[in-house]
Amino acid sequence: MKTFKEKLHIGLNQEIKIKNRLINKKSSFQKIEIFDTLTYGRVLALDGVIQVTEKDEYAYSEMLVHPAMQALSKKAKKILIIGGGDGAVAEEVLKYNDIRSIDLVDIDKEVVDLSKKYFKKINKNSLISKKLNLFYEDAFKFIDKNQNSYDLIIADRPDPIGAGKSLYKSNFYKKIKNIMSESSIAVFQSGVPFLQEKELKEVIKDVKKYFKYYGSYFTVVPSYIGGFMALVWASNNYDLFKKKKFFINKNIKTKYFNKEILNASFAVPNFLKK
Ligand code: SAM
Repeated sequence: MKTFKEKLHIGLNQEIKIKNRLINKKSSFQKIEIFDTLTYGRVLALDGVIQVTEKDEYAYSEMLVHPAMQALSKKAKKILIIGGGDGAVAEEVLKYNDIRSIDLVDIDKEVVDLSKKYFKKINKNSLISKKLNLFYEDAFKFIDKNQNSYDLIIADRPDPIGAGKSLYKSNFYKKIKNIMSESSIAVFQSGVPFLQEKELKEVIKDVKKYFKYYGSYFTVVPSYIGGFMALVWASNNYDLFKKKKFFINKNIKTKYFNKEILNASFAVPNFLKK
C-alpha cells in the first residue's frame, strides 16, 4: 500500500498509509495532494505538508472560531478568513446566523475548487454559501488595499513556507489592525510550540507591537504532529482571556469546543509562560 510521508519537521517524518490517491498536481502556487487514508480519512496536503484531515479538523477549526465568536456574540457581522481554502473554518463561522458576510482570501483558486468537490464532509458546502465572498490573491496584498473593516479576522494560514511566508511578516499584523472594526478580534494559527516554539515567539513579539490585548490558547490536532497547537488572539477592544467566562451559545453544535475545553485551552505551560 502506498504511503504519504510528511517531512515538515527536521528529523521527524510522519508516514501515513494511503488507501487511494485522488489528486496529485501542481497549481501555480504549490503541490496539491488529496488522498484517502486508513487513519485520518481524507487528507489535503500542500507542498507535502498536511493542511486538513477529516479525522481531526474540527479540533482545529472549532477552536480557531468559537472562542472569539462567542466573545463577540452578535457584534460579529463581517468576518475575514485568510487562507482557509478548504472551507473548514468558514463552516464553523456559518453556524452563527447573525453574521452578514464572510470574505475568504485564498491565494490558490485550485485549492478552493478541489475542496468544494472533495471535502464536503469537512466544509458542508460552506464554499458555495451565499454569505461567502471568495477572493483569489495573496492575502498580504488583499489586506493592504482593503478599505473594509472586519469584526473577526481569522488567519487560517499554513506554515511560514512558500506562499504562506507573507502571512508571517512583522507588518502583516499592522495591516490586520488597520482593517479591524472598533469591536474586533483577530486569531492567528501559530504552529505547534514543542517543535515550532520560535514561530509562536515571533507571532507574540509582532502582535504585542500593535495590540493592547493578546495571548495564546491551545488545541490538539493529532495530524499536526508535535503536540498541542498554539492559536494567538489579539484585539484593541477585548481582553479575550478575561471574557473567557462569557456566555456559551448553546445552540452551536460542536464536536470539540465546550465551556471546559474553552477554559482549559487558555492554560499556558511554564516553558511558554515567559
Ligand atoms: N489549517 C491549515 C494549517 O493550520 O496549516 C491551513 C489550511 S488552509 C488550506 C491554508 C491555505 O492558505 C491554503 O489553501 C493556501 O492556498 C493558502 N495560502 C497560502 N499562502 C497564502 C497567501 N499568501 N495568501 C492567501 N492564502 C494563502
